[in-house]
Amino acid sequence: MPAPLRLRLDSEALVHNWRTLDRLSGRAACGAAVKADGYGLGATGVAERLAAAGCRDFFVATWSEAQALAPLGLPVSVLHGVRAEDMPAAMAGFARPVLNTAQQIARWRAAGGGACDVMVDTGMNRLGVSPDEVRGGLLDGLAIETLMSHLASADEDTDTARAMSERQRATFAALAGVTGARRMSLANSAGIGLGADYAFDLTRPGLALYGGVPRAEMAAAIRQVVFPEAQVLQRRRVRAGESVGYNATWTAAVDTEVAIINLGYADGYRRAFSGVGSASFGEHRLPVLGRVSMDLVALKLPTNCHADDEAWVSIDYRLASNAIIAAVSQYELLTNLGARYDRRWVSNV
Ligand SMILES: *Cc1c(COP(=O)(O)O)cnc(C)c1O
Repeated sequence: MPAPLRLRLDSEALVHNWRTLDRLSGRAACGAAVKADGYGLGATGVAERLAAAGCRDFFVATWSEAQALAPLGLPVSVLHGVRAEDMPAAMAGFARPVLNTAQQIARWRAAGGGACDVMVDTGMNRLGVSPDEVRGGLLDGLAIETLMSHLASADEDTDTARAMSERQRATFAALAGVTGARRMSLANSAGIGLGADYAFDLTRPGLALYGGVPRAEMAAAIRQVVFPEAQVLQRRRVRAGESVGYNATWTAAVDTEVAIINLGYADGYRRAFSGVGSASFGEHRLPVLGRVSMDLVALKLPTNCHADDEAWVSIDYRLASNAIIAAVSQYELLTNLGARYDRRWVSNV
């Protein structure tokens, strides 16, 4: 059944962003974080297109995410490691674990597991073994493909954030040659923007592949990939003095043409866009009126705008600027896009 809302996904922009990040990664290879269903775009569609462009390293959070990609036969790493109940999947060989704890390492060794990745914590205190554990020989004898760590504040430009990134980089660099790892990997999207010293052998961008701008200086190089569109369910005239939507937060000063579209916060169109978001119909800009509902949004139609019942409007969804106006992260704007969209890959938006 065709849905009354869709995501147009620009293949060329996705590949352009990956090639840009690959170039910015210098001699390091450039992988792709496709966890959370490819940040909401659809992991399979993303991975197929990036693999065709030359990407050879894919990262997901869980084994079920890895299993969903298994038919593509690509090299996939599972960032959240191996719990006891993950071992059957992990031994099936369609992905490698990123081992995060001494217990996971012991489990992997005991099972005679083969190639793996290992996460080292260099100061974020999220996942990973400590540099001291690594130096103490915890990883000895493991067949490590990639030794990795993760930056906490690479998207921030304060002196404190810069100093933290530099500390993490130095801590990680000091582990070169300490393990038998074939490659080292530190940078996410923002880390790539910090420069060549952060690239090591492999980078792991997510956000910027999908059109997010993790650091201002990367803005010009990154193209928008995700273009939400929604259908007008009802066009109406709101008389002067009448209000629109929950809690009547917008009242018409003069008679106003309004389009009610099939989109709401259950589709990831945040309630924070109430009164500040906008859409486009041809040359016309259509501001959001009043509250965003769960499944509906009201748009103000300018005179001579023919967005009638069943017309499709484009939702303005530039991640960097929308994140600012809605005071949410670009990551949430992507990963909250719901299951109700028809996702369509196109090569020219
Ligand atoms: C999500 C994630 C990435 C990608 O981060 P972005 O900020 O989206 O580029 C890279 N590495 C790890 C360990 C991650 O969890």
